[in-house]
Amino acid sequence: MYNHILIRYGELTTKGANRSDMEQILERNVRQALAEWPQVRVGRIHTRIVVELNGAPVEPALQKLQRVFGISSFSPVAVAPLDMKAICETAIQVVKHELAGKGAFKVEARRGNKQFPLDSPAIAREVGASVLRALPDTRVDVHQPDLVLEVDVRKAQAYVYPRRVPGLGGFPIGMSGRAIALLSGGIDSPVAVWKAMKRGLSLDLVHYHSFPFTSERAQRKVEDLVGILAKWGGRLPLHLISVTEIQAEIRKHCPESLRTVLLRRMMFRIATKLAAECRAGALITGDSLGQVASQTLSALNAVDAATTLTVIRPLATEDKLDIIDVAKRIGTYETSVQPFDDCCSLFAPRRPKTNPKLDEVDRAEERLDVENLVAAALDSRECKMIGA
Ligand code: ATP
Ligand code: MG
Repeated sequence: MYNHILIRYGELTTKGANRSDMEQILERNVRQALAEWPQVRVGRIHTRIVVELNGAPVEPALQKLQRVFGISSFSPVAVAPLDMKAICETAIQVVKHELAGKGAFKVEARRGNKQFPLDSPAIAREVGASVLRALPDTRVDVHQPDLVLEVDVRKAQAYVYPRRVPGLGGFPIGMSGRAIALLSGGIDSPVAVWKAMKRGLSLDLVHYHSFPFTSERAQRKVEDLVGILAKWGGRLPLHLISVTEIQAEIRKHCPESLRTVLLRRMMFRIATKLAAECRAGALITGDSLGQVASQTLSALNAVDAATTLTVIRPLATEDKLDIIDVAKRIGTYETSVQPFDDCCSLFAPRRPKTNPKLDEVDRAEERLDVENLVAAALDSRECKMIGA
C-alpha cells in the first residue's frame, strides 16, 4: 500500500543560519536509522525528507523513525502519478486499507504544483466523491472524521496519506556539536544522556569503575544501558575508566566527609582531558538539584571548579518521579534498578558535607598528585563501540 514515507521537521527550520547543514544531518540520521534496508533511498524535497521504501516494510521503518530526533511528524505515503484518475484510485485504496471499507473520512488537499489543472477544493471534492462511489459504507464527516486523508499534489507526483504520526521533536543528533556524558548505572544519567541527544548533541559516554571492588556485572549493566540508548543515538562510544587508584588515594589522604566531592572533581578532570581528545565542548551529568548531598549548590560549584568546560545538567530542576517516568518510557528503568554497586556508593562517606567550601576542597586536594592520577586513569581506559 505505502511505498514512501514523508518526514517533516519543525524546530530546526527556524534556526536560520545553517539550515541546509541541519537538513543534511537529519537526512544522514534518517538514512542511518533505515540502514538495515539497503534498497531504501532518502532524499529531500523542499522542506521535507522523502523516503522511498523500494519494497522495504513500512511498519518497521516507521518504528525506526519514531526514534530519530529532529522529526516533528511523518506519514506513510502512497504515491500517485499526476493524473486525477490515478490519484482517486490511490485514495480509494488508502481509505479501504485504513477504514476497512467503512467509517467517516475527510479529504484535505493541497496543490503545491500550480500547473495542475484543478485547484485544492476541486481536488478534495473529486477525491471525496470517488471514494464515496467506490466504498458505499463510508461517509464524509468534516468535524469528527475517523480518517483525515491528505492529498498533496507536487511537481512530479501526488502524495496520498492517511495520518501524521508525531515524531520525537528536538534536534538531529550532531547538530549541536559533541559532548562527554558521565554515565553511572543509576536511573538519572541515562535519562540525562537521552535528553542531551534529543537536543542534538553527539556524545562520548564515560563510565568510571573501581574494578575489582565494583563487579564485572556492574560494568555489563552500564553496557546494557548504552545498548538501550544506542537505539536512539546510533552507535555510541563508551569509555570505561578505572578510578580505583584515585579512590584509594582520596581515602588515604583526605577527610572522609569530602570524599564524594573530591572524587567527582577527579571525574570531571578526566572527562575534560578526554573532551580535548574527542573535540567535545561540554560535560553532561545526571545531577538533580538537592537529590543527595553531592548535589547541593555548594557541592556542584566545587565540582564545576575542576573543569573549564560548560557543564550541562539536563535534570537539574526535575523531580525524581518525572525522571523515573522518562526512564520507563525510554526503556532504561528496568536495567537501572538492577542492584549492582557503583564506585560512588562503595565509597560514600557516612556523613558527607552538604556545604563544602572551595578553599577547603582545594586544601584537601593538595595532598593528592592530581596530575599523575588523572593521567594514569586516562591511560587505563578501554573504549567500546556499542549499538547497531
Ligand atoms: P545516577 O542515577 O545518574 O547515578 P545519582 O542520583 O545516583 O545519579 P550521583 O551518584 O550523585 O547521583 O551521580 C551524579 C552524576 O555523576 C551522575 O548522574 C553521573 O552523571 C555522574 N556519575 C556518578 N557516578 C558515575 C560513574 N561511576 N561514572 C560516570 N559518571 C558518574
Ligand atoms: Mg548514581
